[in-house]
Amino acid sequence: MNSAVAQTSQAFLDELKSYLGCRGALVHGWDAVNQPMIRQWCEVFDFDFPPFVDPVAAASTVHGGIVAPATMLPVWLMPGLRNARPAGSDTADPRAVMRVLEREGYVGILGTDSEQTYERPLRPGDKISCFHSVDSISQEKQTRMGPGFFVTFLQEFVDEQGQPVGTMRLRILRFKPHAKVQTAPKRPSPPQPSLNQDTAFFWEGLKEGKLLIQRCKGCGKLRHPPGPACTHCHSLEWDTLQSSGRGKLFSFVFMHKPRHPAFDYPHPVGLVELEEGVRLIAPLCGMAQDKPYIGMPVEVVIDPVEGEHRLPSFRPRAKA
Ligand code: ZN
Repeated sequence: MNSAVAQTSQAFLDELKSYLGCRGALVHGWDAVNQPMIRQWCEVFDFDFPPFVDPVAAASTVHGGIVAPATMLPVWLMPGLRNARPAGSDTADPRAVMRVLEREGYVGILGTDSEQTYERPLRPGDKISCFHSVDSISQEKQTRMGPGFFVTFLQEFVDEQGQPVGTMRLRILRFKPHAKVQTAPKRPSPPQPSLNQDTAFFWEGLKEGKLLIQRCKGCGKLRHPPGPACTHCHSLEWDTLQSSGRGKLFSFVFMHKPRHPAFDYPHPVGLVELEEGVRLIAPLCGMAQDKPYIGMPVEVVIDPVEGEHRLPSFRPRAKA
């Protein structure tokens, strides 16, 4: 006996057992077996078997007329959207044992299988009623969903004369769901850059762990942020230079607002002057709020992949 079962109180098990073995609530169907509902059901399941849907063809069968598909049996007892029952039905809840299981924490529910038997074909005009009972309740079982009980409900269908026309057994697992493992919520990715033909090289370079700077092919001047033309000689021709990633803090701020869930606040952001001579803005990392200072030596850190793109930030660097 496992611990979960050991913790199950005898009083509770006795209460479950009390639902077994007695024929329970008698419930009447709302409507007699009827041809429109048979036709609609057959449409849903794409059946066109003549004894179900064609009165002329059905008349020449051994049934002498329309019969309902056997598997429609429980349809005639459906309570409808309002979950109400016709006058004369028992008002007791035929699934009362479920409330007991819910009360004890078996709140998970899983239909496992059903089984039907048929005594005779049902014809339009048959008025069907049904007795509900609890056929069996298993011992407490360990399942992949959690510890639980398999409860089998029995419906015994009868006609107006009380003659049996069929049965249905429906087996349901009620279980205590395993406690979900609490995991820290995943931090959202930082905002991702929008790429264009002038900036794509910068982000593509970062993916390869390189900090690339745009360089004018006309005059050799470096520029950042990237742009289509050299502001010095107006050349549209350019290539790139891989930066050493080393530089110094030209300026910095601690951002408080606006806030983005990807970052901690206050969020230090630096204007870094690279040793190649251009400046770029990037987050600072690895420094407490009061540590950065103008002129501080820094070096680039290219973050692990976050979302689609890698982002550069700068950390303190020992003076060479
Ligand atoms: Zn130029």
